[in-house]
Amino acid sequence: MQEIGHWINGKRVAGMSGRYADIYNPATGEVQARVALATLAELDHAIQEAAKAQVGWAATNPQRRARVMMAFGQLINQNMDKLAEMVAREHGKTIPDAKGDVQRGLEVIEVCMGAPAMLKGEMMDSAGPGIDLYAMRQPLGVVAGITPFNFPAMIPLWKIGPALSSGNAMILKPSERVPSTSLFLAELLQQAGLPDGVLQVVNGDKEVVDGILDHPVIQGVGFVGSTPIAQYIYGRAATNGKRAQCFGGAKNHMIIMPDADLDKAADALVGAGYGAAGERCMAVSVAVPVGDRTADALIERLIPRIEKLKVGPYTAGHDVDFGPLITAQAQERVKGLITSGVEQGAKLVVDGRGLKIQGYEKGFFVGPTLFDHVTPEMEIYRQEIFGPVLSTVRRQSYEDALKLVMDNEYGNGTAIFTADGDTARDFASRVNVGMVGINFPIPVPLSYFSFGGWKKSAFGDLNQYGPDAFRFYTRTKTVTARWFSGIKEGASLNFKALD
Ligand code: NAD
Repeated sequence: MQEIGHWINGKRVAGMSGRYADIYNPATGEVQARVALATLAELDHAIQEAAKAQVGWAATNPQRRARVMMAFGQLINQNMDKLAEMVAREHGKTIPDAKGDVQRGLEVIEVCMGAPAMLKGEMMDSAGPGIDLYAMRQPLGVVAGITPFNFPAMIPLWKIGPALSSGNAMILKPSERVPSTSLFLAELLQQAGLPDGVLQVVNGDKEVVDGILDHPVIQGVGFVGSTPIAQYIYGRAATNGKRAQCFGGAKNHMIIMPDADLDKAADALVGAGYGAAGERCMAVSVAVPVGDRTADALIERLIPRIEKLKVGPYTAGHDVDFGPLITAQAQERVKGLITSGVEQGAKLVVDGRGLKIQGYEKGFFVGPTLFDHVTPEMEIYRQEIFGPVLSTVRRQSYEDALKLVMDNEYGNGTAIFTADGDTARDFASRVNVGMVGINFPIPVPLSYFSFGGWKKSAFGDLNQYGPDAFRFYTRTKTVTARWFSGIKEGASLNFKALD
């Protein structure tokens, strides 16, 4: 059985703890490898070594650091097929979708090639007699990235790029379900010229995460995962005086107005609801048609599209639209939620619970599922299902649809499909959600903007990647400098304006 360890000081090293987590092939249900779970001593060693390496890395000029990002980007491109296969093998998503996972991470690295422009400070000359003020951005030191299973390449890249190009060292703790991609990315970074020790990949579970949160050398924590863990990590990191940004779960709604192009809206819902088996924090899991005529016409268009979807292992190539869920527990949980929806009175229009795929009977598959007449009290509405289940909540007016979105505890993404500019503009302006799509179902901002939700979808300040990330991974130092030529002023005991 393949054993996956850690990446410390530029080398793959075996784990010492004797504790492991199983890594499944989600399509067959078999254990394909196991990953070592680090001890606190292994973590401490990784952090101390990273702290030593960070000193030289921070002193490396920003342009040289950006060149490492440039070479890294080229290597990611050259290894696109290998990376996509690696992602698909542990996660289960299709190869085209896995390439998207790598590509959206690569785009963040491309922005980091221009990091020097983002790291410039501010300057005011002659702020007073002989006085100049300047503010500079300096790296935090050693920071940590803790990432989820659902984007094995993209989210580690969202963390690595801005943190390293800003002059930090990073301890990356990937999801224990999909560790291989992060280790390979570390290898590529070494080939790109990153000094050993600047990126350490430490695999582990709660023990290592808690060790990171309590370690005095760690200055900042960037987390992505489910809301309860995001909230916990934010609280513990903040109590320990660390800068933290923790991105959580979601329940993303798409409003469909009566004037929308319903074929386009149905296509968008199928892609955004069932792509990656619904295991995306920006998946649309709630359709909100306005008016019963819109709802009936939408459901009528959704059914044939959903029935055409092909579910299977990524190895079946282009014949497959989406793959299995990540674990047997996830599969059971999603099926259980579907059953609860039926018991609580929602109308089950398409049922994915019975799906069996020949030759893959033990795989963690759930077929595409569609509910109509869902109400906000039902469990299928209240929980983030994180599976291929789309719930329809009917509303009779735009204001009621907007209120539904606003009252939801999550605020990651949302969308509206309409032909009316005034309605779209009103929605974008009033809705209390971080990322908004207008006739666009998954509004993940491009890499030169920043990504982040509101409400229980994010805790802490600033968003991920783009301009916000460079602010998160640096702190400001402001210098007031005075030179005495031509100044006759003597001692003053007053705190006063600089004039
Ligand atoms: P998760 O919260 O279970 O795990 C995320 C990370 O936290 C992993 O590295 C894991 O090892 C660690 N972890 C898990 N339990 C822990 C505990 N008790 N104490 C300390 N650390 C712990 O999330 P997941 O299942 O891997 O990922 C899916 C979730 O991530 C979904 O809720 C999804 O919406 C969310 N997500 C959010 C975003 C975003 O940007 N908002 C992006 C992707 C995924």
